[in-house]
Amino acid sequence: MSPERRIVKIGQLFMGGDWPVSIQTMWKSPLPSLETGKEPGVESLLAGIRKLETIGCQLLRFAVADETQAKALGILAGFSPIPLVADIHFDWRLALLCMDYPVAKIRINPGNIGARWKVKEVADKAKERGVAIRIGVNSGSLPEDLRDVEDNAEACVTAAEREIAYFDELGFSDLVVSMKLNDPKDVERANRIFAGKYPQPLHLGVTEAGPLISGVVRNTTALVPLLKDHIGATLRVSLSDSMEAEVLAAREILACAGAAAKGVRIVSCPRCGRASFDTHAFLSRWSERLYAIDESVEIAVMGCVVNGPGEARRADLGITGAGDSVLIFRRGAIIAREKIAHADTVFENALSELIEEKRSKR
Ligand code: SF4
Repeated sequence: MSPERRIVKIGQLFMGGDWPVSIQTMWKSPLPSLETGKEPGVESLLAGIRKLETIGCQLLRFAVADETQAKALGILAGFSPIPLVADIHFDWRLALLCMDYPVAKIRINPGNIGARWKVKEVADKAKERGVAIRIGVNSGSLPEDLRDVEDNAEACVTAAEREIAYFDELGFSDLVVSMKLNDPKDVERANRIFAGKYPQPLHLGVTEAGPLISGVVRNTTALVPLLKDHIGATLRVSLSDSMEAEVLAAREILACAGAAAKGVRIVSCPRCGRASFDTHAFLSRWSERLYAIDESVEIAVMGCVVNGPGEARRADLGITGAGDSVLIFRRGAIIAREKIAHADTVFENALSELIEEKRSKR
């Protein structure tokens, strides 16, 4: 029988237990030096964070490579609408510095943080400040004695077990654990073994998963079976692509696993030689807006009358090409027919009405 799942608080977010699986990503560029938080660059950083939040990101991690970045992250954390996490390798003093600021979680890697007393200093301060810690085991940076173990998944579980035992000794329980490998089968196996033995919330992900397509496929392969079995408290889909793509991929993975709390589901056709309405161009204009909808709705975007009316009719809101016009469907009924040149305007009106109606029923 699996152990009861522990709940860990990270800023205003809860992980584990029966809390919904949360989505996170990692900032992809170094933070600039910040001294006060009033620098002109802060507003654009915050705008970037707000944009990620709008499309579903609930937790955001930053690499902290030196003291300047630790301080910048700390200052930014005081303004951020979502909890921020410091990602620390090698130098435990950076973790200590981050905790002088409202940083919500520290990620450390047992493979490179070094002597036990350093980890103890981090754990003691985290306990005192109410900061959670993630033990981030990565198959690429395992402790030295585990690097030659043939079974990568077992080696990662062993590395995590050792850290858990040490944190238990220290009386520190606000731990999240991740075991990241780049073979989806190993990711699945390591997390299943761990979840069968330990109560700590699991952060799921495939490491170094590659560019957009391979990254999404590998993460989906590994994570959907785990999530379907209620394994995993948070996920990050690592991609050699944008943060936005990581967040949207995580949303789709949760939806495929039946673990999404709520949100838009987009149905769209791939477009072909029959298309009278360019679904690609339409979605590139509308995706961000659609993914910002915080209601459970299905939106269909279709190219022509072959499958268009059928899909659009089933959705909460559908748009389909029909000759030189588009048809707009609301739950089965055609509510507008307009020339393609006016597609955006007519869709905008229908979408606003739909959202308004959903909100009034809350
Ligand atoms: S709905 Fe029409 S345009 Fe879209 S893929 Fe099908 S046949 Fe092609």
